[in-house]
Amino acid sequence: MPDDPLLSIRDLQTYFHTDEGLVKAVDGVSFDVDRGETVCLVGESGSGKSVTCESITRLIPTPPGEIAGGKIRFDGTDVTTLSDDELRDLRGGRIGHVFQNPQGALNPVYTVGDQIREAIHAHREVAETTARRKAVSLLEAVGIPEAGNRIDDYPHEFSGGMKQRVAIAIALACEPDLLVADEPTTALDVTIEAQILDLFRELQREFDTSIVFVTHDLGVVAEIADRVVVVYAGKVMETGPVEAIFENPAHPYTRALLECLPGRPGGLEPIPGSLPSPTDPPRGCRYHPRCDYVREACRTGEQPSLSEPDEDHDHCVSCIHYEGGDGRLPEPASGTPVADRKPERETGDGE
Ligand code: ADP
Ligand code: MG
Repeated sequence: MPDDPLLSIRDLQTYFHTDEGLVKAVDGVSFDVDRGETVCLVGESGSGKSVTCESITRLIPTPPGEIAGGKIRFDGTDVTTLSDDELRDLRGGRIGHVFQNPQGALNPVYTVGDQIREAIHAHREVAETTARRKAVSLLEAVGIPEAGNRIDDYPHEFSGGMKQRVAIAIALACEPDLLVADEPTTALDVTIEAQILDLFRELQREFDTSIVFVTHDLGVVAEIADRVVVVYAGKVMETGPVEAIFENPAHPYTRALLECLPGRPGGLEPIPGSLPSPTDPPRGCRYHPRCDYVREACRTGEQPSLSEPDEDHDHCVSCIHYEGGDGRLPEPASGTPVADRKPERETGDGE
């Protein structure tokens, strides 16, 4: 059904059994990705962004990991019930994945050209010369100079940033319906980053590709996102259209992330405090120990259910202050809100 979202994640729970205890890395995350849409996952390091992405095509190492609950539907199919063969077809076929670290994506014993061609051949019947031409044009598209010559080089002959660009070319080789890009540009300089973001947008225009894009850089979010999912310690704090998130951020965590943008007063300062222990997260709202607007009710029960902070029905926030209220935060409970703090103020060891 074309009106259904291409990807629908409901109440995803991905856990790791570790010596320190059970890590609920993703603990009830839900979001949809429509065809041709870019959804950005944002949040500090350790929030569960990568684990969410890796759950989509079940790349979680099992054990210690386990998808303990929830539903992942891709184009009408429940991914959690697919066989290993069906999953292999999905990965690198209809779903391309760019990992945070490109090392694992490239095989050191094959040339980059072989690897891109293999990705093309794995899912399409094309002549060898066509595949080679396509591989060169993909390398050009991701900004590899002299692509026609470099195509016969091995991964070790490329720098880290170049390897990441090759990994992006491989992920795009089969013209995936969904591209899962986990901090794909974090290791790249801003010029190449801009080029890659352009390439993603072009791809989207041409093929109606859907993109799940992970970043902790809200500048990149502003560039590329249609919708944003703000995650913190395995929970969704806020979700909405990119305009709503930037113009009317509701959750104190989203606000704090925005205040950390370069160019803001106190910008580039980390949010005071740090993520909770993954094996022993706090009750109530997971963000409450760091929240300036904390009330007694924030410290008990479960993560608040999602409510709408404004008239935009796509904009939802998990914060008791918006439950049936007037869509505003109360006075800060602990002095000055993060936004108004001077940069020299002491900071915790958060990111
Ligand atoms: P993010 O991508 O948002 O920085 P991750 O998704 O990588 O965060 O990690 C979320 C949580 O899951 C972290 O607490 C991390 O330590 C834990 N985690 C991820 N992979 C594993 C693993 N293989 N074993 C145990 N814990 C893991
Ligand atoms: Mg990550």
